[in-house]
Amino acid sequence: MEHRVSVIFLGTGPANGIQGTKRDRRRESSIILRVDKCDYLFDVTNDFGWQKNFLRNLKGVFITHGHNDAIGGIGGLSIWHKDQRLKNPIPLYTHPRTIFHIKKAFSDVNYLEFKRIIPNQAVEIGRCLEIIPISVPHSIQPGFPTYAFLITIFKKTILYASDVGEINDDLRELFDDLNILILDGAMWKKRIKSHLEITKTLPKICQEKIKRIYFTQIGKTVPHYKTFKKEVEQICRKAEPA
Ligand SMILES: [Zn+2]
Repeated sequence: MEHRVSVIFLGTGPANGIQGTKRDRRRESSIILRVDKCDYLFDVTNDFGWQKNFLRNLKGVFITHGHNDAIGGIGGLSIWHKDQRLKNPIPLYTHPRTIFHIKKAFSDVNYLEFKRIIPNQAVEIGRCLEIIPISVPHSIQPGFPTYAFLITIFKKTILYASDVGEINDDLRELFDDLNILILDGAMWKKRIKSHLEITKTLPKICQEKIKRIYFTQIGKTVPHYKTFKKEVEQICRKAEPA
């Protein structure tokens, strides 16, 4: 049987999104990993009310961290779960501390089956999908541990790293022979602590053996889509905005 794997970008913007037209309209960052007929959702944002329309057969949720733009839609997910008349709870994989934040923010979480995952502990789903949480620096506020997720699917690797303050050694180690890197591209020519700045980060990353790089979490300092795409390609031919 031939397998189909796709990554669907539900949002590629920062917290609160970006109001723009066409490709410059960016909702809060989230993806669906679709493996054959199974969907895995990464982060449940405040834009979930719109993003839910792309979901089909949801098999699991992975949460990067406990900030509002990564968990804000969990109330909406509860409503969606009821509307779909799903009998089974949805497995939700994340750091124990993030589970604490979710339980504190939302009262109706019985429809979730919390799966505490610690850094580098692989989640095996079936025989062909493995997802490993990697600790990354992000939140300035303490108490918000943040994960990037290394996804291995039919021997191909995708690294989803939507919220990253700095490329640390743990991340750099993974770049060797990565098929797809989806990376925090929040800032353009302006540096902050909690997110990456593209023009500084990209030249180095481009030399790694990564096949394709997509930026997400694209913030307000970043130019409009067409200009951005061109400028990114000038720095690195294998990179583009998601
Ligand atoms: Zn955050």
